[in-house]
Amino acid sequence: MNKGKLFVFTGPSGTGKGTILSEVLAAEPRLRVSVSATTRTPREGEIHGIHYWFMNHSTFEEKIAQNAFLEHACYVGNYYGTPEEPVNEQLDAGYDVILEIEVQGAMQIHDKRPDAVMIFVAPPSMEELEHRLYGRGTENSEKVAERLEQAKKELTYQKQFDYIIVNDTLSDAVFDLRSIIHAEHCRVEP
Ligand code: 5GP
Repeated sequence: MNKGKLFVFTGPSGTGKGTILSEVLAAEPRLRVSVSATTRTPREGEIHGIHYWFMNHSTFEEKIAQNAFLEHACYVGNYYGTPEEPVNEQLDAGYDVILEIEVQGAMQIHDKRPDAVMIFVAPPSMEELEHRLYGRGTENSEKVAERLEQAKKELTYQKQFDYIIVNDTLSDAVFDLRSIIHAEHCRVEP
């Protein structure tokens, strides 16, 4: 079986990356999502090993020292990272793997794995992003403000990606992501 392809799926918090991805995962049997590690506190309903590997700061730092992460970043006060071994195992087994991560981590993958397909999800506008982040109700207003500040910085990186999806209508964004994945499999390899 051929090796799978690595996709990086990035965009500011609140752009709907998770929602788009869950629909695409349900429709694409060859696609797997990488489960990240984080030091952030679990939200209601989040399950260890499914949504994230939740861990404390010292465990996370031990894993950094052991080179266990393909990339890692500090995002609004917490660590987030992609465990490397499961990603390689899935790719070797022929599955495509998608990483839903923020921009600093995406740029690390860009340097380390030049074959990774880089996809950026942008909100239709900053006003809409603000509306979605407050509407989601998962963070207090101070944290939402930090995420919005971070979003402004993240949006300046869009041009460095292979593809940009504007998440205006969910069904269009899902179609776009599926189209990118399929197109990448039709690409003529050098
Ligand atoms: P949240 O706290 O909302 O789950 O995630 C905050 C941000 O961290 C989101 O933009 C999410 O995509 C990103 N993120 C999740 N996992 C990882 C990871 O493993 N590495 C990096 N660099 N960012 C991640």
